[in-house]
Amino acid sequence: MEISSLTNKFIPAKPASKEAEKPLPAAENKIGNTDNKTSSKAAANYFKAAQSINFGGTSGFKIKKLEDVPCPCCGLIMLTPDSTKKHVNRLNMAKGNKLADRIEQEEEPVFRSNERACAMMAAKTARGTDMNLMQAINKANENLPANFNNICTDVLLNASVYCEENFGENSEIFKFLMSKTDNFNQNNDFYRPNLTEELAKFKNTIPEDKYNALEDMIMKMPLDYKSVEKVMKTIVGKSPTIIAQTLYAPSLATAEHVHPHSLGGKNTAANFLSECAGCNNPRSSMSYLEWLKIHPEFSRNPQVYIEHVEGRIVNGELPDSYYSYPVDIKETLTSESEGHINLKVLDKDKLIELRNAKKAGQEVDIHAETEKSEETEKTEEE
Ligand SMILES: [Zn+2]
Repeated sequence: MEISSLTNKFIPAKPASKEAEKPLPAAENKIGNTDNKTSSKAAANYFKAAQSINFGGTSGFKIKKLEDVPCPCCGLIMLTPDSTKKHVNRLNMAKGNKLADRIEQEEEPVFRSNERACAMMAAKTARGTDMNLMQAINKANENLPANFNNICTDVLLNASVYCEENFGENSEIFKFLMSKTDNFNQNNDFYRPNLTEELAKFKNTIPEDKYNALEDMIMKMPLDYKSVEKVMKTIVGKSPTIIAQTLYAPSLATAEHVHPHSLGGKNTAANFLSECAGCNNPRSSMSYLEWLKIHPEFSRNPQVYIEHVEGRIVNGELPDSYYSYPVDIKETLTSESEGHINLKVLDKDKLIELRNAKKAGQEVDIHAETEKSEETEKTEEE
């Protein structure tokens, strides 16, 4: 297969660890009640029996109200209700090439896997026409199996190009991905966790950062054909606004109970991760060991998340009560994952010290501070 022609549209994924080094955006702690379920239930209770409204629990978890927090599971940037509106407006008015460009070049990083597939199909369908989002989705749905194959093959090809550029055309990993690309015509059998499990055999054969970048690329693939079909069924025939809202819904930040609520997990910050709806909802009460089979990148993204949150604490974007959050969430995650996820975190004293340094105008590098504190701990143990 000719792959060199695809190189120009290939954008390599950034290694996840770089996320923590980015300058943090200004605080935009837009309040507003982002917890629709809790609020509507509370309101219903109020009207039923004049009970006191309790907006506690997840609605009080501040991190999910911050803009630009990376999801600790998939690692993608999460949206708030306000930012979702802006994204929806960017798609519901666009047509033809403008719609295609917006989806492929600007919005693509925000979509989660299954919705990404639907959006990318719409982009390909709209290009060179004057179709709006509704027309493009309706048209793409007419030939869903073939379109599904195209979207999956595109991701596999990009991953193959990445391997060819980094490890050469004789590398086993390149040959593996090319054979997956060439033989991709099995839309009803494809199940992404089977592919990531096969990919994991190459984990120790290439540098860690490159493996992670590759895994992130593969995670752009939809979970399976059925999941994409389900999203398409929900949006086909709907208005562009409803379609766009549905496509962005999984990108919204929610509060994930690390120890599931249904199993007695508490409504406290120490048991919460701010996680996108696309990762939170399907997990339900699944154990983290099962979950890691579906989302292998969850083994590394909580570290990116916590360093980002620590940056927000040091910047003064979260209340002082969050000083102990990193240590608390580390404990909860270690216990819930049976030791498979071990965060490196900064303790309360260190965060206060860094917060004061920041206030005094000093630059603070959370990632470097974390590495330093790990070193000190190791030395002290020895
Ligand atoms: Zn996520």
